[in-house]
Amino acid sequence: MNAANEMSISFSALSENEAFARVAVAAFVLPLNPTMEELTEVKTIVSEAVTNSIIHGYKEGNGIIYLQCKILGDRMELVIEDHGVGIEDVDVVRQPLYTSRPDLERSGMGFTIMESFVDELEVDSAISRGTRLRFVKYIRTPQSAAHYEV
Ligand code: ATP
Ligand code: MG
Repeated sequence: MNAANEMSISFSALSENEAFARVAVAAFVLPLNPTMEELTEVKTIVSEAVTNSIIHGYKEGNGIIYLQCKILGDRMELVIEDHGVGIEDVDVVRQPLYTSRPDLERSGMGFTIMESFVDELEVDSAISRGTRLRFVKYIRTPQSAAHYEV
């Protein structure tokens, strides 16, 4: 089997960088030949995780978001990390409709959406240290299926 293909980027926790992160990951996974639907799922995961780091992790203040993506065969592994406030109880926040910011009209569905689009989601978090999400997603499209370029 070929060696893994890896990339990592870090960027300021600014809302304008959410689109940058989403497109960067989408472009990186293109060699796996994803369908439009799979690509949309990957972009949504990045978007939800990065938005959470900006809004909740750094509370819209200064900070850096660290993103790594590794592909091997049909497996994509994605890590998105912030060094923000952290989460007190991960099991609680992962529940559908849980939000600590109803004032911002958040719906509390971010974790549920991310989970539904991946094969694995691991959350590591510690108060005042930050939060690290690790996703595994298989891009199982047959290689003969039709494909897209960006
Ligand atoms: P939505 O994503 O639907 O707009 P939301 O962001 O509140 O709403 P989730 O994405 O499911 O919902 O996150 C649930 C809760 O987990 C958040 O309200 C917040 O309290 C906490 N949380 C999520 N990500 C982080 C993070 N990176 N740092 C600190 N807290 C977080
Ligand atoms: Mg969210």
